[in-house]
Amino acid sequence: MALATIPGYPRIGKRRELKRALEGYWSGKRGAVELDEVAAKVRQANWQAQVAAGLDLVPVNEFSLYDGMLDITALAGAVPPRFGWNGDAVDHDLLFAMARGKLGDPPAQALDMTKWFDTNYHYLVPELSPEQTFRLAGDKPFAELAEAQALGVPAKPVLIGPITYLLLGRMHDGGGSPLALLDALLPVYVEVIQRLAAGGAGWIQLDEPALVLDRTAEELAAVSRAYATLGEAKGAAKLLVQTAFGHVGEAYPTLAALPVDGIGLDLSGRGRENLALIARHGFPGEKWLAAGVVDGRNIWTNDLTASLELLRRVQEQVPGERLMVSASCSLLHVPYDVRAEDDLPAEIVPWLAFAEQKLAEVVTLTRALNEGEAAVADALAANRAVIAGAESSPLRGNAAVRQRLADLPLDAAHRALPYAERANLQRRRLTLPLLPTTTIGSFPQTGEIRTARAAADAGDLAPEAYDTFLEGQIAEVIARQEAVGLDVLVHGEPERNDMVQYFGEQLDGFAFTHNGWVQSYGSRCVRPPIIYGDVARPHPMTVRWARFAQDQTAKPVKGMLTGPVTILNWSFVRDDQPREASCRQIALAIRDEVADLDAAGIAIIQIDEPALREGLPLRHAEQADYLRWSVECFRLAAAGARPETQIQTHMCYSEFGEIFPDIEALDADVLLIEHARSGEELLEVFRTEGYAKGIGPGVYDVHSPRIPDVPELSQALRAILTVLPPGQVWVNPDCGLKTRKPEEVWPALENMVAAAKEVRKWVPVMTPAD
Ligand code: GLN
Ligand code: ZN
Repeated sequence: MALATIPGYPRIGKRRELKRALEGYWSGKRGAVELDEVAAKVRQANWQAQVAAGLDLVPVNEFSLYDGMLDITALAGAVPPRFGWNGDAVDHDLLFAMARGKLGDPPAQALDMTKWFDTNYHYLVPELSPEQTFRLAGDKPFAELAEAQALGVPAKPVLIGPITYLLLGRMHDGGGSPLALLDALLPVYVEVIQRLAAGGAGWIQLDEPALVLDRTAEELAAVSRAYATLGEAKGAAKLLVQTAFGHVGEAYPTLAALPVDGIGLDLSGRGRENLALIARHGFPGEKWLAAGVVDGRNIWTNDLTASLELLRRVQEQVPGERLMVSASCSLLHVPYDVRAEDDLPAEIVPWLAFAEQKLAEVVTLTRALNEGEAAVADALAANRAVIAGAESSPLRGNAAVRQRLADLPLDAAHRALPYAERANLQRRRLTLPLLPTTTIGSFPQTGEIRTARAAADAGDLAPEAYDTFLEGQIAEVIARQEAVGLDVLVHGEPERNDMVQYFGEQLDGFAFTHNGWVQSYGSRCVRPPIIYGDVARPHPMTVRWARFAQDQTAKPVKGMLTGPVTILNWSFVRDDQPREASCRQIALAIRDEVADLDAAGIAIIQIDEPALREGLPLRHAEQADYLRWSVECFRLAAAGARPETQIQTHMCYSEFGEIFPDIEALDADVLLIEHARSGEELLEVFRTEGYAKGIGPGVYDVHSPRIPDVPELSQALRAILTVLPPGQVWVNPDCGLKTRKPEEVWPALENMVAAAKEVRKWVPVMTPAD
């Protein structure tokens, strides 16, 4: 009999109960007991939903108070020395100190946080050293297994596997590959697996998504070594090595040969290559396959008929009695329940499957295999109707947009003049000083702004009154920027709830949820927009505010737009056409907005692309194609601007080295980048590659409440000028200021302007770096 399971479930709680409990605990308003009670309730509600849906194996211990990688750090006692761990079991306060940092004496900085593969979830990076030791320092997996068993839940304990844990870790002191610590770490995993097996776990799942990246022969040898040891430790339990987020490529033969009982593979769209790997190499006769046919990353209803066909092909290699029907990855990356939405367009609701709906899909497919399709005929028929309805729905297609894209002239993604000529025209139009000062766009979203927005959303504040309020905010921010002496101003973005949502809400083809929260990190959740149809811009989105802001001042005010690639990457995107096609439609909408701003006399337009880098595919072989179309889409959005209109862009990450040619190919007139936390090496690539356009490396970090002083800022600026010629350099913070307090922002900007003025005096006598 095939078994129904999933790799993992959301854990923030259907009503984000865990978020509130965590934040209450951190603020001191709730005790540990209360936090633990809420956590247990969330786990139990999750299990109940999965048991009720009919899963045969329910994942446990993928629950986490903060992050699964951090849980292994705690479990294996890999606590960095600065947290002053006394060697006892790692308790909540130590766990949260590692997650969030700790004040006091001595204070300790949090572990670094970074993106989990190509999802929008973030994990806490293990900090390891060559002398690292590990030992079992907690009982979370055993306690959660016992808790589930006591409730009669058919529990499948889940842990992040040792290879992925180490490969995602960072080695201190130039310590080489963290895989060198494998032998030190394995005894902890052995102990955990033995105890779980002794505790009655039938299956134990070890997550090894690191196997879907390009891996060396050495790394694959470590995988074999690790699982040879763990295979011996498992006793009566069965081990499932679970991958996710794509195909396993050259790791397949290694995986197939491991002395474990099952392998979990992504068989959804992005992992479809796994099917070819199975066909090519065969599937080991004694193993189970957890077939990830339900996409755990997107929110679209599964085409059950197509999935059944896929499962039949899988069965040519793997008999039904060794098959698990599963999701392609943990359902952590989707919201809980479509039924919690009351405001989505009625027609698209059936197109959507959040976590609870995906459970039903997994179970329906499993029953179809075990009992025959007749047993689920009604569900299959209903699903076919939904899929057919979506395909033919007028909500999906917009003929005019498609026609326009098809008819685009060949040079549509090219500015009318080359950079050097544009730069001359812009210089004459803008008359800016050397080292012009500016900001990235947003100013503090104060309580006052949020209150007014909430009142407007609730209908308690009339639209005209809200507009007047926003105008007041903009006028104030403009006046203060003038007073501070900035050269290029912004309107401050008070009207924007979020840089993607604000645009999505005004575009055709987007829908928004009320409760569709997805965990980003810790207690932080986001509600990604849903792109369900062709995207079009029915009316201008920002022109009114840009024009109002420009009317308040003689200095240039930047128009402020979110770029097409960022809008795409931070949304759930329809999967019935290539992402590139949706991105090009968004690019057209932004292009129209650029044209309108340009026509309204806005001389500088900034198109933010903070998410361009993070959409880069995990496998090297797939990166070039992504970069091709994402660069093309940015250019399509920007290229309609007249040559004398300056296009700026902003990106807040610092891994530019590997995508430098693509950054250059964006052809933006000015590039404002995050830089304050990296050294001047970051800028070296711009110098050695001869980057000739404007560039504003952030001179201070906006993620800290600290107010940088003038000497420190002019030092930062001078350091930049040792690498880049002054004629190219802009002076700005690292990122937008919306999460800062006004009393932090204004003095910092005042100091930044003073530093720029001071360094301007120096520039003529400064000698270039070489
Ligand atoms: N213009 C946006 C802001 O200032 C950019 C935000 C971002 O880079 N994430 O808030
Ligand atoms: Zn930014």
